[in-house]
Amino acid sequence: MADSMRGSRLGSTSYEVDKGLRVPVQLTTYICPNNHHSTFPFYADAENIPETWTCECGQVAVKLGATMPIQESPRVRRSHYEILLERRSEEELAELLEERIALLHSGGVIRSA
Ligand SMILES: [Zn+2]
Repeated sequence: MADSMRGSRLGSTSYEVDKGLRVPVQLTTYICPNNHHSTFPFYADAENIPETWTCECGQVAVKLGATMPIQESPRVRRSHYEILLERRSEEELAELLEERIALLHSGGVIRSA
């Protein structure tokens, strides 16, 4: 097996693995939607490096260079109001609002005072 040392420049990360470790490693970076970067060393010949990683914040971090799994349409994010408008017309919303206000005035809903 060729003993190439081309893995010797692994960047400035200071993980403990670089001391006394003879097995070549590759650093794999994961990025979560909150832009947290997590970098882990994997054996260079590892075949099952996970595509995703659960970030400390709980979000799913995606391997750098991997295809981002698209869950939402890449269009401009819609506001809650726009989503609401897809389900109900403005007239319906106005009616609902009046209903709620009427309920509030009639004491049908728990008041905060
Ligand atoms: Zn995160």
